[in-house]
Amino acid sequence: MSNLRILYLTAEAAPFAKTGGLGDIGGSLPKALHEMGHDVRIIMPAYKNIEDGIVGVTPMANILHVPIRGGTEEAGVFQGHLPNSDVPIYFIAHKPLFNRPNLYGYDDDPYRFAFFSRAAMELAVTLNWKPDVVHAHDWHTAPAVTWLATAGQKHPHLAGTPSLFTIHNLAHQGKCSTDIFEYLNIQTHPLFEEGAGEVNFMARGIYHAAKINTVSPTYAQEIVTLAGGAGLDGLLRHRSDDLHGILNGLDYDLWNPKSDPRVLTNYGVNSMDARLANKRALQERSFLPQRDDLPLIAFVSRLDWQKGLDIMGDVIHRLMKIEAQFVLLGTGEAEIEQEFAHLAQLHGEKMAAYLDYNAGFAPQIYAGSDMFLMPSRFEPCGLGQLIAMRYGSVPVVRATGGLADTVQDGVTGFAFREYSSDAFWHALQRGIDMYNHDRPAWEMVQKNGMMADFSWQQSANEYAQLYERMRER
Ligand code: ADP
Repeated sequence: MSNLRILYLTAEAAPFAKTGGLGDIGGSLPKALHEMGHDVRIIMPAYKNIEDGIVGVTPMANILHVPIRGGTEEAGVFQGHLPNSDVPIYFIAHKPLFNRPNLYGYDDDPYRFAFFSRAAMELAVTLNWKPDVVHAHDWHTAPAVTWLATAGQKHPHLAGTPSLFTIHNLAHQGKCSTDIFEYLNIQTHPLFEEGAGEVNFMARGIYHAAKINTVSPTYAQEIVTLAGGAGLDGLLRHRSDDLHGILNGLDYDLWNPKSDPRVLTNYGVNSMDARLANKRALQERSFLPQRDDLPLIAFVSRLDWQKGLDIMGDVIHRLMKIEAQFVLLGTGEAEIEQEFAHLAQLHGEKMAAYLDYNAGFAPQIYAGSDMFLMPSRFEPCGLGQLIAMRYGSVPVVRATGGLADTVQDGVTGFAFREYSSDAFWHALQRGIDMYNHDRPAWEMVQKNGMMADFSWQQSANEYAQLYERMRER
């Protein structure tokens, strides 16, 4: 396989911007591909932190003239590299659109990302760099896929470039009015999945891309069903010959308990005594009694319906009645935050709730906890359980999507199938029982998880093979 030129379009790439797994992947898959010898370049928006100045990122002289609304609008470009790598990353700058307090959550999000997608295409031209494949991630970058398949077909530089569309989460689809086609100077026909006068960018990405993939084999099977397809299962079935499931990997350089500078006391599978210091530190920080003998259970997540928070509430109530401790780090829906704040107030001697996003603290929770909960309603891949295993925190998960593909019940963690608080509690109890009564078995499960290999190597290879097939076509 000769070297490939991959244009990687994403709304998030850690450490520059991350709200969840999408950001982790943006910061790690390109590195893995680059290490295999491929020429990968990332383009993402210049959010507030980039424009306000961030180490290693500099403005480029180029001004882009982005063709929109029948005219053009200017955008700036910043450039840098993914940390500890030579992977170039470019940031599309447009203050009114991207220099805002949050990454998402605005009424004009579809327009913001349509502008971003179109500007990214323009940047490829300006760099005079013709990609073999445009790799677009989630609905935010689907406008680029649609443009490539329509107006882009006549473009002197980019005509014929195939696109791979990766679905990280089918629940967020990017819907807006069809006026956006005029904005993008695109002519296209409505899709069956779109209501009258409506555009659905997730559907568009699936429809227009040369190949589609999602981030685990099981999620790839789930999304073609009525129950798991979020209204797009028919379209996904229609494209099933081109639909792949490739498990996400973890950046093993970044997520390494032996060297992670964010972890207070580094440790490895052969130095687990050192791990205990992290548990004590976490208890101290959380104002919990420093008890080595109690299972310390953790949850680090976006507080979203997807994450199984309704069955979680019930399980916390039960957990507070037994000898155990619980630490939560998460942010999201205000109502859910309030509920957890209330619970933490009621049970301050057993539980702590940190209701914010804290990239530096999360690793200390993975390193200091004994168990890690992911009772997700659905989970495209999930990285939390992979990080937890790597750090020796035993995952208790619902066997869905990528959780089913990565956690082996009784071997690397504990899993339950039925979406109910009883099933969840039963799995957690099995874990707690083993922790309390069979330490050798417990330590084996812990070490099995730490030694499991979820690095990028194999998955990056699968992506490269897919790109190669697309280039050949
Ligand atoms: P999703 O992408 O659906 O949010 P994943 O499990 O794939 O879920 O990825 C979650 C990532 O975000 C993990 O790296 C996790 O540690 C991180 N994360 C989630 N919430 C927080 C938070 N409040 N503070 C710090 N990191 C968080």
